[in-house]
Amino acid sequence: MSVTQQQVMDALSKVMSPRGVALPNANVLSAITVSDGKVFFSINVDAAEARAWESVRGQAETVVRAIPGVSTAMIALTAERKPGSAAPPPVPQQPHRHAPGQSSSHSHGGGVQPVATHKPPQGGQNPMSKQAEIPGIAAIIAVASGKGGVGKSTTALNLALGLRDQGLRVGLLDADIYGPSVPRLTGIHDKPQLNADRKMIPISRFGLSIMSIGFLVEEDTAMIWRGPMVMSAITQMLRDVAWGTLDVLVVDMPPGTGDAQLTLAQNVPLKGAVIISTPQDLSLIDARRGLAMFKKVNVPVLGIVENMSYFQCPQCGTRSDIFGHGGARHEAEKLGVPFLGEIPLHISIRTTSDAGTPVVDSEPDGPHAAIYRAIGAKVREQLQGVIAAA
Ligand code: ADP
Repeated sequence: MSVTQQQVMDALSKVMSPRGVALPNANVLSAITVSDGKVFFSINVDAAEARAWESVRGQAETVVRAIPGVSTAMIALTAERKPGSAAPPPVPQQPHRHAPGQSSSHSHGGGVQPVATHKPPQGGQNPMSKQAEIPGIAAIIAVASGKGGVGKSTTALNLALGLRDQGLRVGLLDADIYGPSVPRLTGIHDKPQLNADRKMIPISRFGLSIMSIGFLVEEDTAMIWRGPMVMSAITQMLRDVAWGTLDVLVVDMPPGTGDAQLTLAQNVPLKGAVIISTPQDLSLIDARRGLAMFKKVNVPVLGIVENMSYFQCPQCGTRSDIFGHGGARHEAEKLGVPFLGEIPLHISIRTTSDAGTPVVDSEPDGPHAAIYRAIGAKVREQLQGVIAAA
């Protein structure tokens, strides 16, 4: 029996809000996603009110869980700090983590996610130091782009495989929750199982541990995420997934440099970022915005990759610099960040991606795999100290 949104709303109408009206009438609920017995939504309140809403979140979870057919309820309380308002009251930073031996609750939801959407940190203090590391993961790196369609996800997956080929234990988190493409790029259509601690077990494919919001909701489900909910969903995918021991977790970021991306860069304990750009000028301008964003939150940029750098003829292999190639290398030099490599525009990169058989894995002896591996080697070199220390 499939659960409907109406059933969820009916259940929630039994919960009273601190505003004196039933929860569905309090004007705080995000869109409710119901898929395959899994229910996701957030309660979005002002940070100043967050404390009063904690028990409401718990009650909401209890009533949703009680609906026949619901297997998981992922309900987040997100506290958005309005520009100019006072700092939110202190709240637990890691609401989902459990002390050793303590069993977790049924759901993946829980706790308040303080989200500073409009105030990037100032000064030289590293905001990452406030972010708890994820136990077992030596280095988390972001793969980002200033805009969509530049091949960010394709590069993130093949870079993850390039790092795998360096002998590292690698995970991939598809945080591009506006348009998760990892299910398509990997051909994974399984739903993650829960372990005894009720953490999601990442899907194992190509020797990588892979997680995507696209595994949980149908790909064609229109997802409209508000800023705080983005962070909440990603925090849960980071912390409520049994990643095990990893040398590197590659995070495929949502494209762009808006508030959601900034919040993410600020809240995920990143050891570095890789920026993907195409040679076109516009994309480079966007890439520069990406660089500025990571600089703002003191995340080191590991380098720029130029994707679709030149056209390589599939028949004769001849190279044509149809986009005025070399811009990203030049830009990287100018900005003083490493240039990690250039990837040609080649039909086999596209066809393997679209078939769910990424080129580094399906054509390991080919020229493209070698390029991604070389990029992986450069990234690994920069993370060497962190990985060795862990
Ligand atoms: P983004 O994550 O930036 O939106 P994708 O990784 O989804 O971009 O790539 C967009 C499209 O471009 C996909 O069809 C992908 O197969 C294709 N693509 C990406 N990189 C290359 C490349 N180097 N050569 C050919 N096609 C590519």
